[in-house]
Amino acid sequence: MGLQQALQSDPAHWLAQERPDEPILFFDPARLRRAQAQFRAFPGEVTYAVKANPDRAVLAELARGGMTAFDVASPEEMALVRAVAPQARLHYHNPVRSRREIAQARRFGCVSWSVDRASELDKLGQIEGLEIAVRLKLPVAGAVYDFGSKFGAGPEAVAQLLRQVVERGGKPSITFHPGTQCPDPRAWVRYIEAAGQIARETGIRLHRLNVGGGFPAHRDGDAPDLHAIFDAIRTAAQAAFDTVPPLVCEPGRAMVAESHDLALRVKGLDEAAVFLNDGIYGGLSEWRDLGPAGRIRAISPEGAPRHGRPRDMTVFGPTCDSLDRLSERVPLPGDLSEGDYLIFGACGAYSSTLATRFNGYGVQSVVVLTR
Ligand SMILES: *Cc1c(COP(=O)(O)O)cnc(C)c1O
Repeated sequence: MGLQQALQSDPAHWLAQERPDEPILFFDPARLRRAQAQFRAFPGEVTYAVKANPDRAVLAELARGGMTAFDVASPEEMALVRAVAPQARLHYHNPVRSRREIAQARRFGCVSWSVDRASELDKLGQIEGLEIAVRLKLPVAGAVYDFGSKFGAGPEAVAQLLRQVVERGGKPSITFHPGTQCPDPRAWVRYIEAAGQIARETGIRLHRLNVGGGFPAHRDGDAPDLHAIFDAIRTAAQAAFDTVPPLVCEPGRAMVAESHDLALRVKGLDEAAVFLNDGIYGGLSEWRDLGPAGRIRAISPEGAPRHGRPRDMTVFGPTCDSLDRLSERVPLPGDLSEGDYLIFGACGAYSSTLATRFNGYGVQSVVVLTR
């Protein structure tokens, strides 16, 4: 990613000055700090799930704001974190790893490792003193996109794995991940209840309970109420455990979504269709999986807002693939013109990191807004 600084806070001003023809991600560190501040209300330790946005500037800002532990899934992510936060604690929560990855992660000094099957616990070898977080999976409820379905063991298997962890001298934790963009606190509550039951039935005192990520970003309508989710988690944990284990969470999306806007340019249009300079193979890849997000504003090349009567338009990306279009028509101002910019809000999560270079496109530039 190319990085530039802009001495202002509004992407529209910068766009009017620079008139870029390529897609631009605007990173506003102040908004990231606000999200990080919101998570201070979480009743436990907050770790950042690096995959949502591994950009160095994001990791560095989080570290400056006091983030001391990160959820990583690969040695590459470990290296990215260590480059900006050498002392950070690393939670290696990808439950299936090659032997070489395990050796690398040991050198990085990962303090927590998730597992979801006996073969992967065996592969880890010596676990004395390490936190081993056994990944629990329940039938899906609530998430818009189910990251949770690939990994995890049912309650019986989790109980067995926990016993093995204790026998081998590891610190037994339970972890789960309810899915992503999960607006309903009940998703966490069900998992916490199941974790409490496993702890009671096995008689194992959990080292920690990691409630994963999945906290929703503001894509449309009203901003989601994270405090309601935190309260539900706290209350459920108190009800489910005699001694509540220390809680951990690992937000990705909700931490970074709001910190970036994606500005795309109108390359051409007619009454029914608009062609942009980036699409689902670039910074808008999530539209395919999560569906449309609102929070789009249109401006002229001079930076003036467009507010003609909205028209439902088919929105195409720049590549020659006919799949390169947004899943549903998008209401856009009737006076939208060639050369205008569309500014998509809440694009900090799963945007730059999922952008491909298909057909020579895909967002490559980040402008940091510093006021
Ligand atoms: C992806 C992931 C997260 C972060 O998910 P968000 O929905 O972005 O909050 C957290 N934990 C694990 C194990 C993950 O795979």
